[in-house]
Amino acid sequence: MTSYTFTPPAETLIPVTGSAAQFPVRRIYCVGRNYAEHAREMGADPNREPPFFFSKPRDAVVPDGGDIPFPPATSNLQHEVELVVAIGMGGSDIPEPDALAHVYGYATGIDFTRRDLQTLAREKQHPWELGKGMDHGAPISAIVPKVAHTLANDAAIWLKVNGELRQSSRLNQMTWNVAEIINRLSHFFALAPGDLIYTGTPGGVSTVLAGDSIICGIDGLPQLEVTLIQSGKAS
Ligand code: MN
Repeated sequence: MTSYTFTPPAETLIPVTGSAAQFPVRRIYCVGRNYAEHAREMGADPNREPPFFFSKPRDAVVPDGGDIPFPPATSNLQHEVELVVAIGMGGSDIPEPDALAHVYGYATGIDFTRRDLQTLAREKQHPWELGKGMDHGAPISAIVPKVAHTLANDAAIWLKVNGELRQSSRLNQMTWNVAEIINRLSHFFALAPGDLIYTGTPGGVSTVLAGDSIICGIDGLPQLEVTLIQSGKAS
């Protein structure tokens, strides 16, 4: 029997609709600026530049949302509602026509961003981890297996803060679609079952505060609700 220096970290598990089986997370990849409207509001070129990627730590996942401690060290936390692709079959250099066969299912997620730290990192050409990789920074709904549901190309994607609509778009406004993202990401990393890909956010990102309630959704997928609670820790 293996002995450990300390108790190994818990697995990160996401519920799957219509199944008792849980989806075990391996890695979290994210796509930057994948809707022209969001690229514009970030002051970037909205044209079709190749997609770029960053990562979040696996344990940033918050399955099913709920109460999330407001993260430390930021005065500009922003929400980014995103379609999340759950990978069920791995591969490298996956051709676009084969890419959707590698998808296990889809979910609604939020890529929480400490925008002040991310902006500083962009200016200084530093890595994005401080802005993107914080604890509890990747809430996600239950995963819907793609065999149970075909995601509509023009599905609505939206997010409300305290009942007020802040983000509203459609998946066909993505600059790079799911197959194109899988193709390009798999040039850089061997994808494996358990990987999640947050596919970028539409326009309308805005600052949220402790006490705010966020609800978001994508047509055909479970809604995701999050409440930011005061963590009680000095930042
Ligand atoms: Mn994002």
